[in-house]
Amino acid sequence: MTARNIDGNALSAKVREELAQRAAVLTAQGAQPCLAVILVGEDPASAVYVRNKVVGCEKAGFRSLKYTYPADVAPQEVLAKIAELNADASVHGILVQLPLPKQFNSEEVLEAISPEKDVDGFHAVNFGLLLQGRKSFYPCTPWGVMKMLESENIQLKGAEAVVIGRSNIVGKPMAVMLMSKGATVTICHSQTKDLAFHTKRADIVVAAVGRAKMITGDMIKPGAVVIDVGMNRDENGKLCGDVDFASAREVASLITPVPGGVGPMTITMLLANTVESAQRALEAKSKS
Ligand code: NDP
Repeated sequence: MTARNIDGNALSAKVREELAQRAAVLTAQGAQPCLAVILVGEDPASAVYVRNKVVGCEKAGFRSLKYTYPADVAPQEVLAKIAELNADASVHGILVQLPLPKQFNSEEVLEAISPEKDVDGFHAVNFGLLLQGRKSFYPCTPWGVMKMLESENIQLKGAEAVVIGRSNIVGKPMAVMLMSKGATVTICHSQTKDLAFHTKRADIVVAAVGRAKMITGDMIKPGAVVIDVGMNRDENGKLCGDVDFASAREVASLITPVPGGVGPMTITMLLANTVESAQRALEAKSKS
């Protein structure tokens, strides 16, 4: 069997078109979605991510605000900006690009963002709401994965799902989202004794580790759906995932490529959260 690719670029374009339409309606009602992005330091990868987010906003008809600070900025200055943006009713989403320089306590910064504007879905309040199955802002990467599974009509009820990685931004929320849709979820991590034992019995494998090509075809059950969140560089400096695409695609039924798989969906879901926040703000205003 040779797996079919799940095309993240095509799905992303479709979802962004829908979001642009929603944004146009909100703008006509005086609530143009607005995302504020804070970038600290000169990390080139972070600068590219921020640029892509700003461009994504503009193409979808959102307003975007960008605040850049030198790497040695005092944390208080950034916290004061967050407080100002929290209080600004025209701003619907606030995002602080990670990683932050070492003088920062990242948790403190992320928790300073109002949960109502936490469009990255990293705030403990939003994570708690997700755990309880209540309305919240979902972290963008795992939510993008859920959209990909939904677009392919993958049966999640009763499915065996294995998530490799337990970070707060990908692995843990991914596992919760799959569980909430009826999958039986196993979470693997660096202490897992026999990773292949788990992956080989999974109908759905989500790899979110950060180790190039570590999941090989012989670790995958024939016909499984393989979602590769990893973004790594291979020995030739080429972008690659956590999954060894060449061997895995010979065993899986569906697979996400890297690049062009999960990656494009992450910013799309950030835009989705920002539109949702603008919608909620407008509804709250009309009730008051
Ligand atoms: P983290 O480094 O925070 O987490 C990695 C996880 O992998 C940890 O839970 C770790 O376990 C686990 N792990 C490490 N080694 C092994 C191993 N040998 N076997 C099993 N598990 C292992 O990474 P993130 O969750 O932030 O990101 C994961 C990957 O996804 C990275 O490549 C990142 O670049 C990519 N990414 C891609 C995004 C996209 O938009 N496509 C967005 C976000 C991330 P332990 O907890 O025990 O240390």
